[in-house]
Amino acid sequence: MSGVLVCSDLDRTLIYSASSMALTGPDETMPRLLCVEFYQGAPLSYVTETAARTLETLAAGATLVPTTTRTPEQYARVHLLEKPPAYAICANGGHLLVDGADDADWSSAVRARTAESGVALAEVQERLAATGGDFVLKRRSASGLFAYTVVDRAALPGGWVDDLTGWCAERGWRTSLQGRKVYCLPESLTKAAAAAEVARRTGATTTLAAGDSLLDIELLEAAGAAIRPAHGELHDTGWSSPGTAVTAAAGIAAGEEIADWLLARATDA
Ligand SMILES: [Mg+2]
Repeated sequence: MSGVLVCSDLDRTLIYSASSMALTGPDETMPRLLCVEFYQGAPLSYVTETAARTLETLAAGATLVPTTTRTPEQYARVHLLEKPPAYAICANGGHLLVDGADDADWSSAVRARTAESGVALAEVQERLAATGGDFVLKRRSASGLFAYTVVDRAALPGGWVDDLTGWCAERGWRTSLQGRKVYCLPESLTKAAAAAEVARRTGATTTLAAGDSLLDIELLEAAGAAIRPAHGELHDTGWSSPGTAVTAAAGIAAGEEIADWLLARATDA
């Protein structure tokens, strides 16, 4: 497995909140779970115990890089492995953590690149403020790079995300709808660019990837082989690619399947 780089998204790919784990089978088939994130005094995210063991084995032999749209602060709450990974990609590629510390050179290079393309974050935030309604529960910006809005999905007006997506596309930005969050990001801010940087630094000869959202597409397509779960934004939009496998299961069982698949592929490499 040495020389193998594994870049995996976290939320709804490897880790699951109670609302996303989709445990629908009979109680006796319910897997035992390990809590990997605690927030505001309560457990929030989980993996199955089996997936946790698989990921430990994977991380012992390959370079396993959590590759997330979470900010470094949001990522810091996640304890996926016993020993924190040497590399983590946060803010959709806007931050590269090396042994837990932000790589300042990478951050400033990304900021210089995103500043050159498309409109500024402030303009996107103005648009979000001007077109919102009661369905908008929170507006946030992340790492000074992108914006996200927490919405009431049940009250979200039909076409609102499509209109926003169209507006963003004309300005070099894109959107992603994940659970209760609507993200707006510069098109140049990608997980794939940060993953390529980690591959360069580690001298990786093989890369594997996993992810569930529109923000993971470049990462999945750049990898030698990839997998996505049978749920989430990519699944809902029917996205497929010759190099990307799809799990049989959905929900937290898909997370376990993804961990198994990554370990098997890394072992073969
Ligand atoms: Mg995800």
